[in-house]
Amino acid sequence: MGERWTPKSWRHLPIEQVPTYPDAAALGAVETQIASFPPLVFAGEARKLKSALARVSEGQAFLLQGGDCAESFDEHSADNIRDFFRVFLQMAMVLTFAGGSPVVKVGRIAGQFAKPRSSPTETLEGVSLPSYRGDIINGIGFTEESRIPDPRRQLEAYRQSAATLNLLRAFATGGYANLENAHRWMLGFVKDSPQSSRYQDVAGRMTDALDFMRAIGINPETHPEVRTTDFYTSHEALLLGYEEALTRVDSTTGDWYATSGHMLWIGDRTRQPDHAHVEYARGIKNPIGLKCGPSMKADGLIRLIDQLNPENEPGRLSLICRFGADKVGDHLPALIRAVEREGRKVVWICDPMHGNTIPAGRYKTRPFERVMQEIEGFFGVHRAEGTIAGGIHLEMTGKDVTECTGGARALTADDLQDRYHTYCDPRLNAEQALEVAFRTAELVKA
Ligand code: PEP
Ligand code: MN
Repeated sequence: MGERWTPKSWRHLPIEQVPTYPDAAALGAVETQIASFPPLVFAGEARKLKSALARVSEGQAFLLQGGDCAESFDEHSADNIRDFFRVFLQMAMVLTFAGGSPVVKVGRIAGQFAKPRSSPTETLEGVSLPSYRGDIINGIGFTEESRIPDPRRQLEAYRQSAATLNLLRAFATGGYANLENAHRWMLGFVKDSPQSSRYQDVAGRMTDALDFMRAIGINPETHPEVRTTDFYTSHEALLLGYEEALTRVDSTTGDWYATSGHMLWIGDRTRQPDHAHVEYARGIKNPIGLKCGPSMKADGLIRLIDQLNPENEPGRLSLICRFGADKVGDHLPALIRAVEREGRKVVWICDPMHGNTIPAGRYKTRPFERVMQEIEGFFGVHRAEGTIAGGIHLEMTGKDVTECTGGARALTADDLQDRYHTYCDPRLNAEQALEVAFRTAELVKA
């Protein structure tokens, strides 16, 4: 790894999961253009998130991170963003109430476009084509032409990210996020859920708490805390040319920040310590996530922590664990012990999605109970080790899709064909996502 970091020092290193653009000059022109665009987020916001994550690492707050596996150009609409935000807020409210501490809200949104793939090609009915790599790179259509990487897609991804962020900022601060709304939506969910009785107790206690607050004069007109919320964005920092173009010096501190999103993470397939993605991430001051799958070993993790958080700054590094329901008990304790032994400050996050993907006919799915089992296993290990289960990282949507099986409505493999809309991995639908929040709330308060 080179000694001196610059936004482009990653370019000299080996790199995984990069598309080959047919026209290097066109790619360069787009990157130059994006480098002249305004930042999407500000360094001060990223610092605020880092402080919030530092509180998560000490057990004084809980992190809720979630959104699409892959955002798409076709599904970009105000309704989709609103529906996602509405479910996410309800989940955060349930977790806040149960845990009795703040919930840090981070969307996989407004920039989550580039996808690592396990195979460079996809085969359908005997035809093989280059894999779809996310709308920022190529098209999902199963044709030769659609799969050619097109740099102009980066301009569209920037535009969409800006528009999405604009709406999210309006929702978060303009009154839509008020506690009374979130409470009313949540009651609607509980009433309609086949698992209604399981959630009734928490819901009832929340209603009482809000009645009490109202009675003593705490309302959205007088108290901004019940009218607005902090909402942050995150995505995988995979397409480094795009990230480099949006990496800017913060005028307050003189430090470099990624301005494409508040928090960026390194995927499980691109975390080689001497490769490009780790090099890029080590130099930006944003909070960073690192996906940890079954191949992550304790010594490899400590080496990565040395690179990514040499100053041991709390809130800087989140370890997003994604082992699988049946593996979390085998893998997580060794990583926790190494981190504890070395005295490293990290945020432990559970991604219960990526280790629990199974084939179901022509679809990929994730059984709801396996998702819950991984979360339960994660909390169980932390309880046994005396460490802090900091949060959950979900692939979810605000829509009524049929992508993950199970949940209160007991979706089956046969139901998947009804509304299987994801551009990449299967997401929890709105009801399933809220169920995860209610059931995680039971663990948070335990
Ligand atoms: C993802 O989060 O969509 C993803 C590809 O995860 P991972 O890197 O953990 O496989
Ligand atoms: Mn995914």
